[in-house]
Amino acid sequence: MSPHRNVIIIGSGPAGLTAALYAARANLKPLLIEGLEAGGQLMLTTMVENFPGFREGIMGPDLMADMRAQAERFGTEIIQGNVAKADLSRRPFKLEVSDKVMFTETLIIATGASARLLGLPSERTLLGHGVSTCATCDGFFFRGKPIAVVGGGDSALEEATFLTKFASKVTVIHRRDTLRASKIMQDKAFENDKIDFAWNCEIEDILDVSKGVVTGVRVRDVVSGDRTDLPVDGVFIAIGHTPNTGLFAGQLEMDRNGYIVTGKGTATSVPGVFACGDVQDHVYRQAITAAGTGCMAAIDAERWLDHVPMDVAEKTTTT
Ligand code: NAP
Repeated sequence: MSPHRNVIIIGSGPAGLTAALYAARANLKPLLIEGLEAGGQLMLTTMVENFPGFREGIMGPDLMADMRAQAERFGTEIIQGNVAKADLSRRPFKLEVSDKVMFTETLIIATGASARLLGLPSERTLLGHGVSTCATCDGFFFRGKPIAVVGGGDSALEEATFLTKFASKVTVIHRRDTLRASKIMQDKAFENDKIDFAWNCEIEDILDVSKGVVTGVRVRDVVSGDRTDLPVDGVFIAIGHTPNTGLFAGQLEMDRNGYIVTGKGTATSVPGVFACGDVQDHVYRQAITAAGTGCMAAIDAERWLDHVPMDVAEKTTTT
């Protein structure tokens, strides 16, 4: 394996694999580094019904396996490894991956964002079996059923409002008695007859692991200490996302929530470094939009390599 590449892609979700497919077909012989949670968030879901081209839907892990095979078919080299350090201060960019050092002329960052979870063992076990972190992806499965949404921010109220299209009742479970969400989102939720609030409440357990599906949640009132079981068929965790950008802190421009800022197309604040997918998008967060920006990143990297401005090349190799 050559340690000096034209393109290295970090991340193996829809954004990274689509970038790899396009870069490989552009003859750039990309290297894709997949981390421990290979395949990204779609590995945590079951049926995906909103990725165009699959009229009956496709299981998330199957979709990722197909995308991976397609990227490999055109010559993408895929390695597993933990990128411990990235030095973007000069070109070629330097990466320390497990016990190896690698250099690349362009870098495509597709490290995604991780949905924050409550940290309950039952939540992990039932993820994809009634527990979800994406209303747009999974709401459809809860037609006519009661569900719960956890959180008190804009995401929670947006998801709750969206889910009323399907669910018979949506209970928003929030740990305080005031919401963090914007006033307009609050008004919308309060006006919606299908939305109830369980204030000052924390989920202690998601039921029922022994049945392998969600049948309810055990809720504790943090003021009175009382416990009640709320029967629901689904639980949507909407307590925020964390972009996986720690590796690039201080090296790339990020917004106040840690998402990478992309300017024109997928270009970041460092010439030759591109970002795609959820690591730079906290608005749409869909597999198809991630794949779309992955395609853009590969095209941007290819064009950049073709027309590296001389002043940038000199600056980045001599500093
Ligand atoms: P957020 O604003 O950080 O809200 C997270 C919510 O989850 C808070 O209410 C928080 O409770 C609760 N929470 C956090 N950890 C928890 C835990 N362990 N157990 C129970 N509850 C927990 O996150 P977000 O709603 O995802 O929004 C992120 C950003 O995107 C915000 O800037 C938001 O405005 C923006 N956004 C905008 C829109 C829109 O404009 N359409 C839609 C979605 C998101 P506390 O309130 O007690 O801290």
